[in-house]
Amino acid sequence: MNTTNRADTPPDSLISRFEVTFGAAPDGVWAAPGRVNLIGEHTDYNQGFVLPFAIEKRARTAVRLRDDSTVRLLSTIGDQGLVEADAAALAPGAVTGWAKYPLGVVWALQQHGIKVPGFDLLLDSDVPLGAGLSSSHAIECALITALNELTGAGLSAEEMVMLTQRAENAFVGAPTGIMDQSASLRGASGHAVFLDCRDQAVQLVPFEAQEAGLVLLVIDTKVSHSHADGGYSSRRASCELGAQILGVSALRDVAVTDLQNARGLLDPTTFRRVHHIVTENDRVLQTVDTLRAHGAAHIGDLLDASHASMRDDFEISCPELNLAVDKARTNGAIGARMTGGGFGGSAIALTPVQDEQQVRDAVILAFAAAGFTRPEIFSVTPSAGAARTS
Ligand code: ADP
Ligand code: MG
Repeated sequence: MNTTNRADTPPDSLISRFEVTFGAAPDGVWAAPGRVNLIGEHTDYNQGFVLPFAIEKRARTAVRLRDDSTVRLLSTIGDQGLVEADAAALAPGAVTGWAKYPLGVVWALQQHGIKVPGFDLLLDSDVPLGAGLSSSHAIECALITALNELTGAGLSAEEMVMLTQRAENAFVGAPTGIMDQSASLRGASGHAVFLDCRDQAVQLVPFEAQEAGLVLLVIDTKVSHSHADGGYSSRRASCELGAQILGVSALRDVAVTDLQNARGLLDPTTFRRVHHIVTENDRVLQTVDTLRAHGAAHIGDLLDASHASMRDDFEISCPELNLAVDKARTNGAIGARMTGGGFGGSAIALTPVQDEQQVRDAVILAFAAAGFTRPEIFSVTPSAGAARTS
């Protein structure tokens, strides 16, 4: 998978590039961030809790409405060139390439009864593609924020979350939940987004790694395992089976204290899947409490426990992620875990500032020694959600 990263085009050059490409100034520029999930993995489709945050890396879209129904799309990366489509003739499954993300948003808005005219769009994003940081939702959230304003649709953040989910599920064909776009649309600087995936309730929880002398490192393993899709759907099926046998509508309704009893009712594999979800949900709640009471320096054990649970119970880790986590931990990180759907993507390592270089060096050295592709390592801080920038 292409993970080429492009330095941010300065705002004025995005605008002038738009003018050169489309012959007129954009109506404005709207930006939406990628996200990192601090904790709470695969809990979203079990109607549980997640704790992602918006990062500083973001997709920026310069947009100008047109008088006809033509949509013209250009990205500053990739070699697809200008993509043209008719906003009045969109059909799920018919679009290939990156255009399916913005066009999925247009289609979802139309399904919701909102009239969307044609428009010109120039995209520039520094969210790494396919690294588990949700570059796709960054595009969708930037555009839906733009179109919400430009069409005067007056959608709430909750509605935009549901519509971008519809775009991904029904138009793009990716069975994703509501976590990524909730973080991208509802994130705030210095905070993680504590999201209840049952009712979309959000609480912003202070997450100030810097104040605690820490840095949150993202280690992009550059791995995208071919069985990721199959693994995702089989985990979902196990969770549904577990919920059905335990007589609950979703695993969110199973408490840690119910697990003893559940062991006798489920086959060993389903039990391990259920065990992950139930304990992970509990770890999200503990992380929220700990951040509020004691701060970021005290959540390391919860991150470690989350990784062990995904590695051993949910079995969605891979050698590269395990190596990244192990090397980060043994070189100073106070907690580390894989983040995202699994089978590749990124790990996070909460690291004392004075150990940052050592962790970076140790991970890169270990990957080289193991014959793995060199990982990309960068720090992230909780940043603001989607907004108009010019
Ligand atoms: P993730 O959302 O985790 O990064 P996805 O597979 O859901 O991974 O989305 C990645 C896809 O999003 C890419 O294959 C590409 O089609 C599209 N994409 C993301 N950023 C850009 C960009 N800057 N330009 C063009 N396409 C992009
Ligand atoms: Mg995505």
